[in-house]
Amino acid sequence: MKIAERVPEYIRSLIPYSPGKPIEEVEREYGIEGSIKLASNENPLGPSPKAIKALQARLDQLHLYPDGDCFYLKHGLAEKLKLSPEQLIFGNGSNEIIELAVRTFMRPGDEAVMANQAFVIYRLVVQAAGGICRTVPLKEFTHDLSGIAATITSKTRILFLANPNNPTGTIYRRNEWESFLNEVSEDVLVIADEAYFEYVDDSEYPDSLAYHDKGKTLLTLRTFSKLYGLAGLRIGYGIGSPEIIGLMHRVRQPFNVNAAAQWAALAALDDQEHVSRSIETNRRGMEYLRREIRRLELEEIPSSANFILVRVGNGEEVFTELLKRGVIVRPMAAYDFPEYVRVTIGTMKENQRFIRELERIVKIHRRVAEVS
Ligand SMILES: *Cc1c(COP(=O)(O)O)cnc(C)c1O
Repeated sequence: MKIAERVPEYIRSLIPYSPGKPIEEVEREYGIEGSIKLASNENPLGPSPKAIKALQARLDQLHLYPDGDCFYLKHGLAEKLKLSPEQLIFGNGSNEIIELAVRTFMRPGDEAVMANQAFVIYRLVVQAAGGICRTVPLKEFTHDLSGIAATITSKTRILFLANPNNPTGTIYRRNEWESFLNEVSEDVLVIADEAYFEYVDDSEYPDSLAYHDKGKTLLTLRTFSKLYGLAGLRIGYGIGSPEIIGLMHRVRQPFNVNAAAQWAALAALDDQEHVSRSIETNRRGMEYLRREIRRLELEEIPSSANFILVRVGNGEEVFTELLKRGVIVRPMAAYDFPEYVRVTIGTMKENQRFIRELERIVKIHRRVAEVS
């Protein structure tokens, strides 16, 4: 038997993650220039200037292995979050923390529960480990927490929740979260993925960190990829009890977080000006886009994050039309939202360009529909 034939069916049937198209690729394919990317929820203002400075100051140290313990970053963040450093684990993006949690807490045949339209990485990582995914339909575009709690069996090891959810941008609120926690026993790990935490402006939004000392088994995920503008460096973190974090450290590679990411993240944490400017840019961009989408008589899903789902009719077609015009968004058929595209809030200029191109496409489609 050849080695390839020994690969289990759950690996063979994996469909690799399809990321947002990079600008260079689109420009090469369509022979265009000056494109904008509103496809991967990156910070349109770029990285924190303080992070860039911190990186530049230490480029001559890149021949050295990174600090495998992330000592300075860990202590800086622990102080900021008022936690003990033993409650923190860093990863090559928060995606790696998802993988560490699955490798630590799931064996082949164990189950994980998640919404059927949540971040696809959960499904991919669980399947790659031989785990079984139980999915629960969204309710009004957000997590159905009581449905998720009702799907727990004796085989369930992990529950994945994204708050805000990706790709819908919706949140679940404090009441639902608290009754949900009451129904979940401590032998199930609840992962609260809060990649967009800093963007949320809603008084009923539950900060999962406030629930870590209440007898449940919680792992909160946060990242430097979104608000802090460091997606290219790959750094995110998990917060849990020292026991949970200690177990995950056992399966972690010794140098999983590169040196540049550690220097930049520590500096970015301190860059309050960049953070405030980023949140304000997002708030104004979101207001503008929602207004314009309604003016075009299209629907949007109310989002608490830095992106928005827009119902455009044929999502794949509108995505391709926008690509040709140099505007990269994300088609949503893979998430079972074939009528939608997901667009990241950009700078005001980028948002205006998106609306201008979308308006042209929508008008052409409507004219064609009238004629035929
Ligand atoms: C973007 C995103 C992340 C962040 O991933 P990184 O690996 O930290 O870049 C995590 N979870 C969700 C739901 C996201 O949308």
